[in-house]
Amino acid sequence: MTNGKGILLIISGPSGAGKGTVVSKLKEKSGYSLSISATTRKPRQNEIDGVHYFFKSKEEFEKMIEDKKLLEYADFCGNYYGTPTDFVNKRIENNKTVILEIEIQGALQVKSIYPEAVLIFLTPPSMDELEKRLVGRATETPEKIELRLKRAVEEIDNIDKYDYIVINDSVERAVVDIEHIVNAEKMKAKRNLNLKEILIDYSKSI
Ligand code: ADP
Ligand code: 5GP
Repeated sequence: MTNGKGILLIISGPSGAGKGTVVSKLKEKSGYSLSISATTRKPRQNEIDGVHYFFKSKEEFEKMIEDKKLLEYADFCGNYYGTPTDFVNKRIENNKTVILEIEIQGALQVKSIYPEAVLIFLTPPSMDELEKRLVGRATETPEKIELRLKRAVEEIDNIDKYDYIVINDSVERAVVDIEHIVNAEKMKAKRNLNLKEILIDYSKSI
């Protein structure tokens, strides 16, 4: 229902918390659509341009900012990341739950434009586990891991700005928790006010 519009679902959380893993499972569910961000970060092994990110040079990214093609953008550990506006708008109009897997500065920018966006913070069960996951993923140098762990502390410090917290202990459990949140959000009265008109109109005809 949701007044004919979809839900804008923002998933943030420390690097290594498991956002990408959880979101890739959610993406397979019907009704979910994942926004593909633009970034100036270099592709990791197995990352494909246009699938995982749109990989851009700094100049190309700054042109996107200038041309107002981004809904939000931020600097994360020395690289730009941003959400292309067009994709999000089209999918929301199509009643999809559009997932933005983005960091906190971007999440707060989106919330200020779309106050009805739902903000979920995905956490690891502990900082030790976070470090283990980042090291185990083996995609960053030790220096970059250290930078991301420092950044994790700043993000956790702002956890109160989020609507929900989901602990990613088990991926399957985290996916189910997020589905429950989305289902409950879809049933919120303010997202279904069109129903009021439909029911009242009907009652006038009897
Ligand atoms: P993020 O997108 O938040 O940076 P990833 O999805 O890349 O994190 O996950 C980081 C690492 O942790 C990956 O190697 C992934 O396989 C692993 N991981 C994700 N979720 C879990 C979990 N619940 N338990 C154990 N390992 C996990
Ligand atoms: P990674 O380099 O690990 O893929 O992503 C680093 C961080 O950038 C993660 O916290 C991720 O959520 C965030 N991120 C990815 N895309 C975007 C985006 O479009 N906008 C913002 N603000 N953050 C993003």
